[in-house]
Amino acid sequence: MDYSKLHLETNCLHAGYTPKNGEPRVVPIVQSTTYKYESSDAMGKLFDLEADGYFYTRLANPTNDAVAAKIAALEGGVASVLTSSGQAASFYSVFNIAGAGDHVVASAAIYGGTFNLFSVTMKKLGVDFTFVSPDATPEELDAAFRPNTKAVFAETLSNPSLTVLDIELFANAAHKHGVPLIVDNTFPTPVHCRPFLHGADIVTHSTTKYMDGHATQVGGVIVDSGNFDWTQNDKFPGLTTPDESYHGVTYTERFGKGAYITKCVVQLMRDLGSIPSPHNSFLLNLGLETLPLRVERHCENAQRVAEYLQSHEKVAWVNYPGLPGNKYHERAKKYMPNGTSGVISFGIKGGRAAATVFQDSLRLATIATHVADCRTCVLYPAGTTHRQLTAEQLVACGVPDDLLRLSVGIEHIDDILADLEQALAKC
Ligand code: PLP
Repeated sequence: MDYSKLHLETNCLHAGYTPKNGEPRVVPIVQSTTYKYESSDAMGKLFDLEADGYFYTRLANPTNDAVAAKIAALEGGVASVLTSSGQAASFYSVFNIAGAGDHVVASAAIYGGTFNLFSVTMKKLGVDFTFVSPDATPEELDAAFRPNTKAVFAETLSNPSLTVLDIELFANAAHKHGVPLIVDNTFPTPVHCRPFLHGADIVTHSTTKYMDGHATQVGGVIVDSGNFDWTQNDKFPGLTTPDESYHGVTYTERFGKGAYITKCVVQLMRDLGSIPSPHNSFLLNLGLETLPLRVERHCENAQRVAEYLQSHEKVAWVNYPGLPGNKYHERAKKYMPNGTSGVISFGIKGGRAAATVFQDSLRLATIATHVADCRTCVLYPAGTTHRQLTAEQLVACGVPDDLLRLSVGIEHIDDILADLEQALAKC
């Protein structure tokens, strides 16, 4: 079956796994670390990467592979690998092509965990990052590159600031300097944004969010478009020169468009681990089957909630790209024409005190350190994740004292609005 010819909704159900006569209809959980072979020669060929097959689940597992292939089809990529978390996906996506002495340009509007990974942990490994405004001009972007720059990283729709990336502008800048654009597409998902169509080269996700959607597994994925030519310059010796730890294999020569993901699997997964358990991949697959339906409803509900909040006298401000007048409304229409995500941020008049009363008064929406769940949930960063920061520090990192992050679920809209109404009445 050529999945590239089918619609995304169909691929959410069928891509990645085609059972043969008498085999399970649903992707089975292969909960086995090991695989049996009849001869030492057969197994030796696997270790030399001369034959396809499974030998140890840290390297490859049939359940994980089926789900990875499905997500590659959804993004329109040539290959992908699942990871045990979104954090691992962000780390591997960069570390696969940048090591000590290298440099990466990253948008400053990224998830706080990714910012820490880049600015603290990867810095300790010798990789330097320059953070640029997501609204940087081409000239400002150009100025951030160095001779040792190996990649550009950004989020298509940022968490929590809900900035919509100008993907084409960032891709052009990256390509002008001979490096790939890596984008984290967690919030819009491939249902609402297809970064490869706009020039991005690698896509990552925290599958913990909408892809799962039921808050049952932590996971990540890296997808390669297969479009970036790693041999165009000498910036990527890890891909274009022999890997001594794999009998001198040169990934670009042996694996062509699969080079980046193959290296990520056989080198980084081999050495660092971070694979998901097959059971988690099974749960993720169930989430993927209904992804388009859920994402559509999340956005429909979020649009109604954003409009409701905007017209409420106790609400000071609302940030949702679906609202006309939002700074990113026009850009969202270009890159995410059918909607952005179910996440809204807003502030209530009365600052910290009012935000706390509001959150504590909610009956349906859950207080949770999570977004993109099918159940509506809310987080007050200044009182939780960013609790240690002073008022000045909160402003500096773009989290005002009154900011509430609401992840609108797929409950009936009237019940969501009624819950917000009764909580706002108490503020
Ligand atoms: N990327 C984005 C946009 C996120 O929102 C998150 C987590 O919230 C991550 C990556 C990290 O993912 P995980 O929590 O699955 O490690």
